[in-house]
Amino acid sequence: MGGGNGCKAKKAQERKAAHAQTGSKAKSQLKSNAKAQNIICQQCKQSFMCTTNEGQMRQHAESRHPTYTAHDCFPDHIPA
Ligand SMILES: [Zn+2]
Repeated sequence: MGGGNGCKAKKAQERKAAHAQTGSKAKSQLKSNAKAQNIICQQCKQSFMCTTNEGQMRQHAESRHPTYTAHDCFPDHIPA
């Protein structure tokens, strides 16, 4: 008798664990999506992937905002 109950409980627990895993996976995906574009040009508010390197930021500043420095466009990423 007792054995049957234990098996049932284990199954329910496994299902619960699987569900929790799916939930956290979807959540982390959402989080990484938001994180993927976290560089924003302060002059034109264009967003860039977080993988954008300094050279690309400087290039954007030079071609789009010749009157500003790269630091003006990306103060958090380009030192003054
Ligand atoms: Zn810009």
